[in-house]
Amino acid sequence: MSFQNPVFIPGPTNIPEAIRKACDMPTLDHRSPAFARMFRPAVEGVRRVLKMEGGEVIILPSTGTGGWEAAVSNTLSAGDTVLAARFGMFSHRWIDLCQRHGLNVQIIETPWGEGAPLDRIEAALRADTAGKIRAVLATHNETATGVRSDIAGIRRAMDAAGHGAMLFVDGVSSIGSMPFEMAAWGVDIAVAGSQKGFMLPAGLAILGVSDKALAAMEGATLPRTFFDFRDMLKSYAGGGYPYTPAVGLIAGLAKSVEMLEDEGLENVYARHARLAGGVRAAVTAWGMRPYAAHESLYSETVTAVKVPDGCNGTDLVKLAADKYGVAFGVGLGEVAGKVFRIGHLGMLTDVMVLAGLATAEMCMADLGWKVALGSGVAAAQQHFRGTAGALALAA
Ligand code: PLP
Repeated sequence: MSFQNPVFIPGPTNIPEAIRKACDMPTLDHRSPAFARMFRPAVEGVRRVLKMEGGEVIILPSTGTGGWEAAVSNTLSAGDTVLAARFGMFSHRWIDLCQRHGLNVQIIETPWGEGAPLDRIEAALRADTAGKIRAVLATHNETATGVRSDIAGIRRAMDAAGHGAMLFVDGVSSIGSMPFEMAAWGVDIAVAGSQKGFMLPAGLAILGVSDKALAAMEGATLPRTFFDFRDMLKSYAGGGYPYTPAVGLIAGLAKSVEMLEDEGLENVYARHARLAGGVRAAVTAWGMRPYAAHESLYSETVTAVKVPDGCNGTDLVKLAADKYGVAFGVGLGEVAGKVFRIGHLGMLTDVMVLAGLATAEMCMADLGWKVALGSGVAAAQQHFRGTAGALALAA
C-alpha cells in the first residue's frame, strides 16, 4: 500500500513534510562555512527550546541512549555515586547504563506507575552528609508507563537538602512537547532525542549542558572518545565537528525548531495537553484508566492504557498493525501485556488522534473486548469540541 497512516507510538513520531524536505539535501562539505551557517541556528534554537542560560548545546550523531552515555561519561569517574529512582523501563535502562560504567547507583525502588518520589530523594540527599552523590538522575517522562515526574520539585528537594549534586534529566519523550525549563529548574544536563518532540528521524542525541556540568567535565575520568564534549566544543569553536556530522538531520533540526517556534512553544505544549485530554477522555469512556497512579502524574505525550483483566494489550497492538496498518506502543518489561500505549506527541492534530482512537476501538471489538464502538471517540470529540484548539499545524 502506498498510503500510510500516522503512527501513534511514543516515538519515533510522524515527520512533517517540511522537515522531511529539509533533511533531504545534497551533500555539503561539513568543514565549509556553509555547514557552520546551518549548524548555528540549530544550536541556538535548541538553546531556546530547552530554556537554557549559559552552558552549551551538544548535538551528537546518536540517539537518546547515547545522550545518557555522553552525560555520564563526560562528567563522572568510575566509583562515583549517583542517585536515581527506578519506576519504569527507561529509568531502569539509565541505571543499568550507569552500572555498566562502574558507577555506584543508589537506587530508590519505586512502583511502576509512580513518578520520582520527591520526599525519598530529599531524604537520601540529606542522609548523604559526606556529599558522595555526584548527580541525581531523573526521567522526566517515563515513556513505558506514561508518567511525568516533577523536575522542579526535584530541584526544590535538592535545594532543601542543601546538596550540591548535579541534576541530569532524561527529557527524551518530553522536550519539545511538554514544558521544560532547564535554567529555572537548575538542570545540569538535559537529554533529548531527535525522533520525538523534534519530529525528526532518529539519529541525533541533543543535550543541554550547564556551566556546572562543563566544569565537572574537566575532572571526569570515565573513558570517552566519540562522545567527548571537549572535542565537540573545540570543533564547535571553528564552526564544525570533530568527525562527520549527520548534516541532513541537523538541517532538519533547524527546520524543526523553526516550526516549533512558529507555532509558539506555549501553543505546542497546550496542543499536547489537549490531545492528551482527548485520549484520556476516551480511555475513561472505555471503562479503563491510564497506568499512571495519579492524575498529577499523567503524561502529555503518551498514555499507557491499563487493559481489563483477561485482555492482552500486545494483542491489540499486533492486530492494529496487521489488520489496519496503525502503530500503537506495546507494554514494556513489567507491564508487557498489561497495557498498550498511545503516543500523542509530535506532529498530531485532534483529527488524527480521533482516527487513532477509532482504530483502537475497532481492534477492541475485533478482540471481543467489552467496549462499544464509538464510545471513546465520542468522549474525545466532546473534549476537543469543548476546548479551544489553536491548530497551527494544519494552517
Ligand atoms: N528515555 C526515554 C524516556 C525514552 O522514551 C527513550 C526511547 O523511547 C529513551 C530514553 C531511549 O532513547 P533512544 O531509543 O533514542 O536511544
